[in-house]
Amino acid sequence: MHTSVGSWPKSTNQFIIGSMSVPSGYFDYAAATPLDTDVINAMTPFLEGCFFNPSAIYESARKSKSVLEDSRKTVAEVIGVKPVDIIFTAGATEANNLAIRGVMSQFPSGNIVISAIEHESISAPAEKYQVKTADVDDKGLVDIESLIGKIDEETVLISIILASNEVGTVQPIAKIAKELEIIRKQRKEVGNPTPLYFHTDGAQASNYLDIHAHRLGVDMLTLNGGKMYGPKQSGILYVKSGLQLEPILYGGGQERGLRSGSENLAQIVGFSVALQKAQALRSIEVDRLQILQHLFFDQLISRIPGAKINGHRKHRLPNNLHITLEGQDNERIIMMLDEMGFSASTGSACSASSDVPSHVLKAMNLSDQQISGSLRFTMGRQTSQQDVERLVASIAETLAQN
Ligand code: PLP
Repeated sequence: MHTSVGSWPKSTNQFIIGSMSVPSGYFDYAAATPLDTDVINAMTPFLEGCFFNPSAIYESARKSKSVLEDSRKTVAEVIGVKPVDIIFTAGATEANNLAIRGVMSQFPSGNIVISAIEHESISAPAEKYQVKTADVDDKGLVDIESLIGKIDEETVLISIILASNEVGTVQPIAKIAKELEIIRKQRKEVGNPTPLYFHTDGAQASNYLDIHAHRLGVDMLTLNGGKMYGPKQSGILYVKSGLQLEPILYGGGQERGLRSGSENLAQIVGFSVALQKAQALRSIEVDRLQILQHLFFDQLISRIPGAKINGHRKHRLPNNLHITLEGQDNERIIMMLDEMGFSASTGSACSASSDVPSHVLKAMNLSDQQISGSLRFTMGRQTSQQDVERLVASIAETLAQN
């Protein structure tokens, strides 16, 4: 029996997502999403009475194990793979580390190619090895020619973010996968046994994009529960059958030896229900948020003609509103907006706060001054048209006060 997603209202333009209400000025869904009510309900029994360790052998533990395997089946079904290929992790940072370190530690003379706009949970582990970086254009789109040009006969892994957590640009993952297939064939012809694996970090993708692993053409895929109305510190790494990874944690051998440690069943169940629901709501939410996204950009440009929209206009997450107000101090604007009841971000909220200018915006060729005037607003299930209209009016008000 698979976990059920329950029901949600279809007629309103907002969705019931949790028992807590989300402040109407919340525009930081890329940093954190609240827990969905169906997710809370599915998790609750495993936070209360059903505490048994799925690895034990008595009946209640065996029941826990079967819930664990049902959750794995659910996740596998959603992304179109075999259950055995799903490794549950404590979030996307861990899944990304497992993908990179798990491959690269086996190839001391190998190298990895990443894009210039990866999340730090990709770039930081990649920097422990020989790493090459593919350029992006001024919209944050990976330059496929630059990427292919970086691959040499020792390249074992390519990792490209599926959708940017900062500017929302969506990368042509399936297209890149086809190019890599050509290189694999060429390697076979010349007798080069070095594998060429392809990983994508889909931490921001589950609510809005097709995350079917075969259609994407990837060997490994990271997903993140905390960005899709599921629990934080829940996630998966999909690892294609036959791909050998070296674990980054050693111990009891859970998760096929790739993620030792007693399974966190509540998080796992929560992740699987959240993923099912995120994908079930995907097309409704994409349509709804695209309308709000266009409304925001149109109203912003008409009220603040100098405002610049960052990221790709078409290949973009529908919930991302990333802008530059040149000559402005983004932190000051965020504090002013905070006083008016809005929560926004200067960029990636997932890294500890630092004064280093965003590497993503730098790679997109924004000047330091433009970066200092850049802001990220991200919408979600509770964002309404009135919220967006109030936000634009409030941004205009902050500029009038400056
Ligand atoms: N990858 C991307 C694209 C992200 O946006 C984030 C966090 O925001 C992560 C990885 C890391 O996720 P976590 O901090 O939940 O492990």
